[in-house]
Amino acid sequence: MKLETDLKTIKRLAEEREDENWRFRTFLKQCDNKEIDAIVHRLLEEIAPQIDCSTCRNCCMELHPECDEAEIERLTGLLELSKEEFKERYMVERGEGTFYIQGPPCPFLREMRCTIEAARPQGCRDYPYLHKEDFTFRLMAVVSNCAICPIVFNVYERLKKEVWHRRTQRR
Ligand code: SF4
Ligand code: SF4
Repeated sequence: MKLETDLKTIKRLAEEREDENWRFRTFLKQCDNKEIDAIVHRLLEEIAPQIDCSTCRNCCMELHPECDEAEIERLTGLLELSKEEFKERYMVERGEGTFYIQGPPCPFLREMRCTIEAARPQGCRDYPYLHKEDFTFRLMAVVSNCAICPIVFNVYERLKKEVWHRRTQRR
């Protein structure tokens, strides 16, 4: 199955398939969580190496990761700013004491490169989270990430084929 990597096409297809994606989410909620994790991890291993994040960076263009106090501390050191200056310039507070990088797009993205790569927040390192356990507990985020991340889009499409379409065809 050919992978889709064009960001405009992915956004359009994710919008066109929104109803289907939510129906598949309902189906996945009834599946065995560990079995789905194993399939998602295998699909991720197959698909991620074929997608070049360095020429995509759409997560940095579309999302704004959370930063905890330790991460803010690390970044103020790297950028030689006081915590107050750093928060004023780069952070937005949503909810008491919860800070996110301003944007999107992320102000640390320049010429398709992360300028704080060594100190980037854990949320950036973990995105798109498909290597984690409990995929079926994070499906709201997965469905919304289908419109943003080519890795998520292609994994979700392949997962539909493997566990949904085949099972419904057997009936
Ligand atoms: S901090 Fe770096 S990796 Fe994270 S969103 Fe910004 S540019 Fe992207
Ligand atoms: S994680 Fe997804 S959205 Fe981010 S750069 Fe890689 S393919 Fe693009």
